[in-house]
Order: sequence, then structure tokens, then C-alpha cells
Amino acid sequence: MANPTPIIVAIDGGAASGKSSSSKILAERFNLLHVDTGSFYRQITSELLKQEIAPTEQAGLEAALAGLDLSTQLDGRSAQMLINGQAADDEIRSQTVNENVSHYAAIPAVRQTLLSYQRGQIDESQKHDFRGLIMEGRDIGSVIFPKADFRFFLHADPAERAKRRAAEGQTDSIVERDRIDSSRKVSPLTCPDGAIDIDSTHLTLNEVVTKMSDYIATKLSPA
Ligand code: C5P
Repeated sequence: MANPTPIIVAIDGGAASGKSSSSKILAERFNLLHVDTGSFYRQITSELLKQEIAPTEQAGLEAALAGLDLSTQLDGRSAQMLINGQAADDEIRSQTVNENVSHYAAIPAVRQTLLSYQRGQIDESQKHDFRGLIMEGRDIGSVIFPKADFRFFLHADPAERAKRRAAEGQTDSIVERDRIDSSRKVSPLTCPDGAIDIDSTHLTLNEVVTKMSDYIATKLSPA
């Protein structure tokens, strides 16, 4: 049954800090819609690269963004964004997208395009009878849902995070992405005031999930 007042859980943190793995488990445990906003920025990046529009081409960029019709379909309990009816493909995890995504994500018009779409995921969660949503990204607790019921911020040493990505078979510019994401003017990656800060460097995934789960369970019993 959908909650009359949907619960909102925000998880922010740097690249490969464990947001996706933990939020998927928590979504399952508490019957929440899982929303990976990084995948949305990756999809828009992949689309703009396909259209050969550089981050510096302001007019072309705004016209291209205006032409994107964003909708949602579910993949299990995860929200999948469709751009003009098309779901993301494997390209969004490619090295090219890894290297470009932070440059596009720093552009105010790109962030604006995703702002109401991301907030609208609450309606999706209600429509599909979830008890709320768990949304991961960089600015969820600071900008998208500053009044979320729970706001977590995950940290981990860069070396540990690089190891995690390598174990997934990925080459990722983690440090460079974090540098750009933390220093941009609009919605930088930051631990918002009052968020629950968790350093996962020496914790297993299970330990991280248990910590977050204990907080969430103070408001919501496991499903
Ligand atoms: O989470 P993931 O590492 O897949 O995110 C890819 C990129 O998308 C980030 O490095 C960042 O540039 C951008 N992003 C963002 N704001 C979010 C989520 C992701 O700027 N809420």
C-alpha cells in the first residue's frame, strides 16, 4: 500500500561511495522506489554527445534540452528515465560518459531540466504503491529534497573507491569527477547541514546498510 505521506530518503556522496548498492538494498527492505539520479545525468550526457553538442555551446544546448521529453518506466523497483521514449543503454556507463558527465552536470540548464523531473518521482512512487522513495545523487539532500525524512552522506577514501570500481571491471575518473562536482557553482557535491555522515572506507556494504536501516526503521517498519 502507498503511504499517505510518502517517506523520502536522500543519499548523497562522491563517485563509487556505495550509494547505489546500499540504496537498492534499502529500497527492497522498506518497499521504496529506487531513483538513481546519476543515471539521469549520464543519459542526458550520452544524448548530448550523440547530438554532438559540447557543454560550451549554450544556445544549441538549451534548444536540445528543450527537445527532450522525459518520462519514467519501472525496471523492477528502480525508476528508469526515458528520453523521447527511449531507455538508457550500456553507453551511459562507458568511459566517454564517465569523462564527460561532470562537465554537462555543471551546466545550470542541464540541472534545471532534471529538477522537476526528479521531484516528480514522488508521484511515481505513489502511483506504483511504494511507501516513498530512496533517491541517490549529489544534491538530493541539499537541493532536490532538503526536507527529506532522512538525508545520508556517504564518504570513502578515493583509493578504496577506485578499488570498488575496478572490481566492477570499470575504469572511472573518480577523483576528477569529485573535483568538478564539488567545485561547480550550482548544486555542488557537499554534505548538507544536518545530514547523517557515514564514512564507509572500513565498513562492509552490510554494515553501511545496517546503519542506514536503523535510522529509517525509527519511522518506517521494514516491509
Ligand atoms: O552517481 P554517478 O556517479 O553515476 O553520477 C554521475 C555524475 O552525474 C556525477 O559525477 C555528477 O557529475 C552527476 N550528478 C550530479 N547530480 C546528481 C547525480 C549525479 O551532478 N544528483
